[in-house]
Amino acid sequence: MVIVMEKHTAEANVEHVMSELIARGFDVHRSTGSDQTILGVVGDITTIDPREFELFEGVQEAVRVSEPYKLSSRTWRREKTIVNARGVEIGGDKVVVMAGPCTIESEHQLFETAKRVARSGARVLRGGAYKPRSSPYAFQGMGVEGLKLLRAAGDEFNMAVVSEVMEISQIEKMLEYVDILQVGARNMQNFNLLTALGQVRRPILLKRGMSATIQEWLLASEYIMSGGNYDIILCERGIRTFETATRNTFDISAIPVIDKLSHLPIVGDPSHATGRRDKVMPLARAIVAAGGDGLLIEVHHDPEKALCDGPQSLYPDQFARLMDELRIIVPAVGRAL
Ligand code: PEP
Ligand code: MN
Repeated sequence: MVIVMEKHTAEANVEHVMSELIARGFDVHRSTGSDQTILGVVGDITTIDPREFELFEGVQEAVRVSEPYKLSSRTWRREKTIVNARGVEIGGDKVVVMAGPCTIESEHQLFETAKRVARSGARVLRGGAYKPRSSPYAFQGMGVEGLKLLRAAGDEFNMAVVSEVMEISQIEKMLEYVDILQVGARNMQNFNLLTALGQVRRPILLKRGMSATIQEWLLASEYIMSGGNYDIILCERGIRTFETATRNTFDISAIPVIDKLSHLPIVGDPSHATGRRDKVMPLARAIVAAGGDGLLIEVHHDPEKALCDGPQSLYPDQFARLMDELRIIVPAVGRAL
């Protein structure tokens, strides 16, 4: 249920409704818009009649939310969420480009790549320290040593940093180093991990599971939001279909669909979607043209030698060219870079 307060109603009215709900055992999530407050009420609301709350002073209406996700929906928060990661705003006017290697391999590799993507205009540096590899024999990542390098490179080149968290036990350590915690496609329905991430106060980049529907994806975000962490960035990275020409199939319509259903920002990852660097640039252009709030792109200073995802990693020169192209496309869709 959501309770829409009257515009500019007194704070005391909002607090009165909230304390009444809390006293009855509900969780109340407050969304304070520019002129209107909306309360998201979660718990077993089958026992209450929303109309009862419309009699409270300052309440405009109380309605049941028909979607299974509540806090992720536009019903609870009408204005788009802007996630702030170390001063970088995702979901605002500017399209944010996140770039870097799939995996942190060495100081030389990370710093060389970071220097190049920063120079081209990337504002967030990506790099995995814990890798969800399909094979147990493949390189599994540098762990904490990798996180230290990532933080140092982010600081050196003035970028926020994002890295993947694979399990609950890694969260605490990662909070020391990263600005955005990435949940990978394979973990989108790891509900224990999502619940734990609801307790932290750090932005989460939630990738769409490779066989997840949009509803399942928004329900995954709801797990995090219900814990009170509202800073979520959705990331479409392609889904499994019958098509084999690309690694996955990018669901471009997910961008406008999400924009209608949810207030959460959405970025696109053309690297994991296609699996081939020659397909990354056209898809990146399409993501921005479709209204994506940003991009997550794999770049490697020497992709032939990459330990992971080399074939889909852009050369730094290609990335620079892509950024030049985006500078033309972005204003055409009413955004800035
Ligand atoms: C990644 O970003 O390197 C990654 C493993 O992505 P995904 O979870 O989308 O496969
Ligand atoms: Mn990768």
